Amino acid sequence: HAKRQGDGRHIHSTPNLLQTYELSAGIEQDLQRAVMKGEFTLNWLPVIDTASEKVVSFEALARWHRPGYGDISPDIFISCAESAGLIEQVDGWVLAAACREAASWEQALGVSVNISPVWISHNRLPSLLRRVLDETGLDPTRLQIELSERVPFGSDGMTRRELSQVRAMGVRLALDDFGTGYSCLGLLGTYPFDQVKLDSQFVQAIGRDRRAEAITRGVLQMVQSLGMTSCAEGVETEEQLAFLDAHGCEEIQGYLIGRPIPRLPRQVGSVRAMDQA
Ligand code: C2E
Ligand code: MG
Ligand code: MG
Ligand code: MG
Repeated sequence: HAKRQGDGRHIHSTPNLLQTYELSAGIEQDLQRAVMKGEFTLNWLPVIDTASEKVVSFEALARWHRPGYGDISPDIFISCAESAGLIEQVDGWVLAAACREAASWEQALGVSVNISPVWISHNRLPSLLRRVLDETGLDPTRLQIELSERVPFGSDGMTRRELSQVRAMGVRLALDDFGTGYSCLGLLGTYPFDQVKLDSQFVQAIGRDRRAEAITRGVLQMVQSLGMTSCAEGVETEEQLAFLDAHGCEEIQGYLIGRPIPRLPRQVGSVRAMDQA
């Protein structure tokens, strides 16, 4: 067992299967404890209206400092939580914390929360939302739920009814990471999404890959024809912003606009205002 060989070097080399197993077994126990004790924190990623460059909302992103290991990427702990059956609790914690914080903001900005599609179709999201909105007093129209298509969705009537209930409450729905996962285009026709979030992979191809650019233009047009809005993720350059603006992408987010921050400045106006804060 590599960890007991004593020279420490093995820890940094590519883990073998057994080590991977041991690490993930440990992570599950630690996640379980983190869920019980609420060891997570939030970061906020600003979203702007492309045309006016005004901040319209913030996306809540979960952060976990794993004791003895440091900060673990959400890509890792979220998928661990999904396979360990803990994701509903993690998402529930994030939802409640995000709504509570948003309700205390000076400005009535939008708030987006990621919910894993893994626990959709059991009809537990509508009641959780009702409870959280009730407890925090947040106006439901300020809340958007993002469902990533990285994980397969139930394609059944159950999922559709559940999402329709959420929307009937006034909460908005977004399809996240569009174009990277299980996006059969049918999802857009079947489920009541308000917004499509174009994955950063497409944004990063702007100015580099003509074919990917053509897909991006086509997706933006299709989303608009379906009566939904688009938000592009991972915008890092002015060139990407200009392209997205020219092709009708209503909202954007990314490091060009702002990095995730643990706390909002007192007044949130334009992007430049945030830079100075
Ligand atoms: P996402 O929902 O697509 O969130 C956007 C991710 O892109 C965030 O990574 C953000 O920090 C990163 N990002 C934003 N702008 C840029 C940019 O300009 N360049 C680059 N390279 N990256 C940018 P993060 O925070 O590591 O989150 C990763 C994913 O973890 C999220 O992707 C989301 O799918 C998932 N996640 C985070 N929090 C939660 C949660 O509470 N529940 C669930 N189910 N999933 C979550
Ligand atoms: Mg998201
Ligand atoms: Mg996303
Ligand atoms: Mg993404």
